[in-house]
Amino acid sequence: MSIDFSYYRELLLEKKREVEDNLKSIKETSSSNSELGLIGELSSSDDHLAEYASIVYEHESALTVEKILKDMLKQIDAALKRIEDGTYGICEVCKKPIGEKRLKAIPYATMCVHCKSLKEKSARK
Ligand SMILES: [Zn+2]
Repeated sequence: MSIDFSYYRELLLEKKREVEDNLKSIKETSSSNSELGLIGELSSSDDHLAEYASIVYEHESALTVEKILKDMLKQIDAALKRIEDGTYGICEVCKKPIGEKRLKAIPYATMCVHCKSLKEKSARK
């Protein structure tokens, strides 16, 4: 039983491009929020304060999404490295194969379904 590394490398590179595109568009959106300074000047009324708060909120959620995407990029890069090392597709906990079905859904997965669900259970405690 062998894993088709080149297939998963393509999958990962495709995913990486997708994430990078998303990151780029988030950066463009948050830089267009530079009217923040203008609102600061006008914020004498409560209406403007509310508007300001909603813009700050949007900005913060963009930062959260950016963080998630950056984490994903890291995981994708790590998975690409595992392909080079020849350890790709092996669960980092039990060292068993992760399974092609799972890898096709999440090509940067580091754990098999079993270990992942155990980990999530213990995190919930
Ligand atoms: Zn496992």
